[in-house]
Amino acid sequence: MSIPPSKSELPRRIDARKLVQREQQLSGKVPVAGLERLAAAVDSVEEDVRADLEFARDLQGHFTVTGQVHGAVTLLCQRCLQPMPVPVEGEFHWGVVWSEEQGKALPKELDPVIQDSDELDLYEVLEDEILLNLPMVAYHDEECVASEHFRAGDESAGEDEQRENPFKVLEQLKGSSGKS
Ligand SMILES: [Zn+2]
Repeated sequence: MSIPPSKSELPRRIDARKLVQREQQLSGKVPVAGLERLAAAVDSVEEDVRADLEFARDLQGHFTVTGQVHGAVTLLCQRCLQPMPVPVEGEFHWGVVWSEEQGKALPKELDPVIQDSDELDLYEVLEDEILLNLPMVAYHDEECVASEHFRAGDESAGEDEQRENPFKVLEQLKGSSGKS
């Protein structure tokens, strides 16, 4: 059974048990509209989250889902508070279970995902993965408009300065080419 490597939307509700039994593979996207918690956690969600999933039973008979998620969001730089694009990626190895007790019995390498009814909300679980892999804070590398303030406020640079601070190095390169 082959699914075209598609740009189509993933189904929101799945029966993981059936998909495991069929050893199904799914590829597709979760539309931004289905990602409300993510939208609340970031400045903006840049594009649909894409995911690849492979359903299978492992040697111990666990119902597993292995895959990756990719997304792109905008976070606010914590120095200048301007938006900056941040790619988000995650890999996962789920063990699908039907109760918390079953989840606790899973081997460590499987993250329990509980399907507590006939269907699992796939968008919700994929959104969890993106949220888990979201950086806590974001800073511009070089084009930060607040680098002036950063330089002035960085006390640790007081003594042995220049070396560790990329902004200072840049300034040196630009400003005083005579001395290195
Ligand atoms: Zn910045």
